[in-house]
Amino acid sequence: EPTLYIVATPIGNLEDMVPRALNVLQTVDVIAAEDTRHSSRLMQHFNITTPMIACHDHNEGFVAQKLLDRLREGQQVALISDAGTPLISDPGYRVVSLVRAEGFRVVPVPGACAMVAALSASGLPSDRFLFEGFLPAKEVARGQRLRQLQTETATMIFYESPHRIVATLNSVVAEFGAERELVIARELTKTFETICALPAAAMLAWVLGDGNQQKGEIVLLVRGAAKREQSEDLDDEVLRILSLLAEELP
Ligand code: SAM
Repeated sequence: EPTLYIVATPIGNLEDMVPRALNVLQTVDVIAAEDTRHSSRLMQHFNITTPMIACHDHNEGFVAQKLLDRLREGQQVALISDAGTPLISDPGYRVVSLVRAEGFRVVPVPGACAMVAALSASGLPSDRFLFEGFLPAKEVARGQRLRQLQTETATMIFYESPHRIVATLNSVVAEFGAERELVIARELTKTFETICALPAAAMLAWVLGDGNQQKGEIVLLVRGAAKREQSEDLDDEVLRILSLLAEELP
């Protein structure tokens, strides 16, 4: 059956390439890759010789049509991005929605994903989380977005670029306060992997004071806002009334 495979690739450490992904990439007829030059290094490393075509944000609609043609011819196709799981702050959404809409099978081949890796080792609550991808680059828009999240109680996860991390931490301190707990997961699975938890203002000071923290790839996690005390207040009120009633009962 013609199938589109959505294949995760490593986010740094090549040993995170799973055997099933290697098998799929070797056996499909074509691989759509975000940056074919970048991915050809991965392919060479694993001796994968499958032809690649480029699929990035600017040609995704066009590539989606090409992949559809291949599927209609009965071919097997795979989609990868530069690193981690395609579609997660990466191209692929248009391809997957179109291919599914045309009735073809889409099969995920899961593997590395920076936000899942970061959350799993962050120590922050993982029962509910909100993945926000990249914040707006401009300060005003970034502040607005964060303001909308001020009362969000789920753990929030952001992707960040090293040259913007200081500006983003400034915005986070401004909107969430100096005491909000943050975790920065940097260079995951690589030699200089660092996972650091600090209150927002202390995090900003630490990153400012250590230039190394402004390099590499970064996931920023923010502890959700404390649940509103309302429900507890209500419980107290209910208890108070119950005890008053109890006193009046015979
Ligand atoms: N699709 C990828 C995934 O599954 O995680 C994410 C692609 S997105 C364009 C790139 C961003 O992911 C980086 O700016 C960084 O925020 C995060 N990232 C990727 N690799 C990382 C790593 N090894 N350590 C920390 N963050 C990483």
